[in-house]
Amino acid sequence: MEDATTLDFAFQPHASPVPADVRAGLLANPGFGKTITDHMVVINYAEGRGWHDARVVPYGPLSISPACAVLHYAQEIFEGLKAYRLPDGGAALFRPEANARRFNESADRMAMPRIPEALFLAALHQMVRADGAWIPEIEGGSLYLRPFMFASENFLGVKPASEFLFIVIASPAGSYFKDADSVTLWVSEHYTRAAPGGTGAAKCGGNYASSLIAQAEAIREGCHQVVFLDAAERKWVEELGGMNVMFAFDDGSIQTPPLGGTILPGITRDSLLTLARDAGFTVREEPYSIDQWQADAASGRLREAFACGTAAVVTPIGKVRGRGFEFSIGNQGPGLVAQKFKDQLVAIQRGRAPDPHGWLHRLS
Ligand SMILES: *Cc1c(COP(=O)(O)O)cnc(C)c1O
Repeated sequence: MEDATTLDFAFQPHASPVPADVRAGLLANPGFGKTITDHMVVINYAEGRGWHDARVVPYGPLSISPACAVLHYAQEIFEGLKAYRLPDGGAALFRPEANARRFNESADRMAMPRIPEALFLAALHQMVRADGAWIPEIEGGSLYLRPFMFASENFLGVKPASEFLFIVIASPAGSYFKDADSVTLWVSEHYTRAAPGGTGAAKCGGNYASSLIAQAEAIREGCHQVVFLDAAERKWVEELGGMNVMFAFDDGSIQTPPLGGTILPGITRDSLLTLARDAGFTVREEPYSIDQWQADAASGRLREAFACGTAAVVTPIGKVRGRGFEFSIGNQGPGLVAQKFKDQLVAIQRGRAPDPHGWLHRLS
């Protein structure tokens, strides 16, 4: 096998990239996930050969066979992280080693090959080197990186594939926070996101496919996001479709559901828990029931609830609704704890505050 940690990347520049003035227009108001940059990283994997043919090529369509395994059995995983512009003009990623580690844990669960961490990180570097001009300079702007891997073998038999493609694409992102200062959640009654022994802890497309109907139901019920309860007892709060959830209490404690295989181990979640411990909060990673949530919101013991993830950073939760009930939390707006953590995290990510845990990964 080739030593994949030392692959050289071939570079094929885009013959007609988006003109600078058009790009500037797009970067003034990028939204989220609408625009894809000029290039992409592609690396092949084949059983017996390992990772090979690392390259940066013009962004464009892939040609795959209708028999491509991913189209049938959904062997696919992904990651999401952001590149930030630093005050000195450089660029940085936030805890990309954690994304590399989680990517490989997802790969294990989905019977896919691991990618050496160094190769995963090199791919991110190549992506930002090629398209760093796409990092928006607006407040709250970043370049969202989307590494993913899928089964590319053409074979209809049911087995782990023997060929895969690893790809990184990038999309400029604005601030998620612009208008909604808090969200209303819909508690899914019929649908669950993950069961014990299932794929809830893996960042795989299939988890999203199965959550979309519940998210659509939430929208139909006039809510922003769905929140899932556990599959076994339909009692314990797990997470949103793509964000973890946290609770802040009047005694200065913070609580979040524990990582038990059915929720996604968010890097934002882990970072906020670390910041909370640093700041002297009591932190509990313990189950929290929907009934307790309602009771604590009513008594005022619960001061704030918020969702957290890379895309939206920290999103305050103002109201919770389900079949036959509704309750609000605190003043329904952004609470002090959520705001403080968000400010602190964003300051570290953007190189505006000391980084005591070495989370910032500067790109050369
Ligand atoms: C990605 C993701 C999160 C958040 O993880 P971060 O590393 O904080 O971005 C939470 N829940 C689900 C289901 C996810 O896919």
